Amino acid sequence: MKDTFKHKGLRQKLVHIIKTKGIKEEKVLKAISNVPRHLFMDSGFLDHAYQDKAFPISADQTISQPYTVAFQTELLDVKPGDKILEIGTGSGYQTAVLCELGAKVFSIERQQELFKKTKIFLPKLGYRPKKLIFGDGYMGLEEEAPFDSIVVTAGAPFVPKPLLSQLKIGGRLVIPVGEDVQIMTLFIRNDIKEFEQHEFGEFRFVPLLEDKN
Ligand code: SAH
Repeated sequence: MKDTFKHKGLRQKLVHIIKTKGIKEEKVLKAISNVPRHLFMDSGFLDHAYQDKAFPISADQTISQPYTVAFQTELLDVKPGDKILEIGTGSGYQTAVLCELGAKVFSIERQQELFKKTKIFLPKLGYRPKKLIFGDGYMGLEEEAPFDSIVVTAGAPFVPKPLLSQLKIGGRLVIPVGEDVQIMTLFIRNDIKEFEQHEFGEFRFVPLLEDKN
């Protein structure tokens, strides 16, 4: 597993690209420039790793587009020590970005193959999420709630209630909502029953699957 000067150079170009697309926060850009994305792909497709594109990984899933990862991460407004729940671990790329920002990350994946692979892989790169869970993200993670923020990295046909109820007051849920196309949506919990909602345009994700799909 190598991360060479060439890879680092390609990452700087990628950071430049996502900056021109509107990502502003320095610490997010720094995280993207630190995570060796090529190592999260099956056999290091160098040509693809540092294009700003989603890419297929095993089990019919994808590693999210870097711009999308950066966009969701900006919306999370991560502070060091934040307790964050991610739904859809996948390759672990978003998990690694959150670890770079000093978050305590809990992440749930429903595909067993991916779960196992990523659990072994992340520590090899020095990323130590608090907990990786094999299970169904629709339920959130009640035993570890409440969270400073929750990020869903698959397209949700609706907003699962448990995710809203597992936020701290002041906590943020970033979730792409919709069937074929998703609207990136941010919920901020202002009070026990009061949520502020903001929408940020269209994105495309693989679906957040319900069990037995
Ligand atoms: N965060 C990943 C994106 C992976 S794509 C990255 O950075 O690359 C979305 C992931 O969500 C897939 O791995 C998929 O298997 C997973 N997923 C889909 N439905 C789910 C559910 N109900 N619970 C948990 N994970 C789910």
